[in-house]
Amino acid sequence: MRVEKIAIAGYDEVYRLEDPDGFVALHRCRIGPAHGGTRIKDYASPEDALADALRLGEAMTRKCAINEIPAGGGKAVLMRNSIRDRRAALSDLGDFVESLRGRFFTGSDLGTTPEDIEILKSRTRYVACQDLSEHAAQGVLFAIHGALQCLYGRPESWGRTIIVQGLGAVGYKLADKLVSDGARVVATDVDSARLRQAEQELSIETVPPESVLATSGDVLAPCAVGGVIHRGVLSELRCAIVCGAANNILDSDATAQPLHDAGIVFVPDFLANSGATIQGVLTNLKGPGDYTAQIRAIKDRTVRLLQVARETRRPPLDVALEWIRC
Ligand code: NAD
Repeated sequence: MRVEKIAIAGYDEVYRLEDPDGFVALHRCRIGPAHGGTRIKDYASPEDALADALRLGEAMTRKCAINEIPAGGGKAVLMRNSIRDRRAALSDLGDFVESLRGRFFTGSDLGTTPEDIEILKSRTRYVACQDLSEHAAQGVLFAIHGALQCLYGRPESWGRTIIVQGLGAVGYKLADKLVSDGARVVATDVDSARLRQAEQELSIETVPPESVLATSGDVLAPCAVGGVIHRGVLSELRCAIVCGAANNILDSDATAQPLHDAGIVFVPDFLANSGATIQGVLTNLKGPGDYTAQIRAIKDRTVRLLQVARETRRPPLDVALEWIRC
């Protein structure tokens, strides 16, 4: 693997990888180590891979900053179609991460398997890995409670309709928690087997993936992929709140304003889905422990954020970005 440092405005360190092709983007690694998983995915072009690494790395910085955790964000992406020998590719990436001497901690993300993580761990000390989907789901639930509190004066999801897009590691657990809370959950997934399993195991209603955004409810919780909310779908939405686990739910920060103008409250995903980051990064910085109290604080942060946004008549995302200024 060849590695070349490239300069990208606004980022502390960015590296282009060759053979296999990819990028390591450290958005912030000066206030504390950058944390972020390794994504292995088919990208149409190196430009797409770089854009993904940059945006995901910045999102990690935002998650740390909004929770006042002294760490930054980063991301490694490998272009799957350029990998000839997976073991060698991950070994090389591990060696490179080790050479960064703790400025970057990586772990699992989309496209990585437990075997991949074992290879990384065999080459570098700087691997933070565990399945954090439970903590992510907890955090989203607390954010939903905060948003409901702000909008309706009570946090409980009991009697509310919550629409969950994507019943994967996080979405499934979130749907389960919401059902236990007494919410009416309407959910979808492009994986029909997953959807059938959820129908059998949880008391949920289901809708086809293509009609989920237009389903009426109190909260739309995107828990599948990023970019699902863009200008083109705003007139379809029939929810009061958007609050979910997916990273970068909005196609761009600029969509926050028209979403706000449409009267829909958006809880920034870097706050709502930060439960996994809180658990993962604090474990790394302070050692294994129970960080539930810090994850629970997502609810109060959400309430404060939405209150300020309401008082100042601004999109919550704009207020949150002003708070964290990074
Ligand atoms: P996952 O791969 O386990 O689940 C995603 C699910 O979404 C899958 O079941 C998939 O079939 C479904 N899906 C994909 N496209 C869809 C579509 N268009 N419509 C409906 N369903 C669709 O992923 P996950 O770990 O549950 O993560 C979900 C999202 O949350 C991702 O955006 C991820 O980046 C983000 N996130 C995950 C964690 C975590 O700890 N796992 C933490 C923070 C954020």
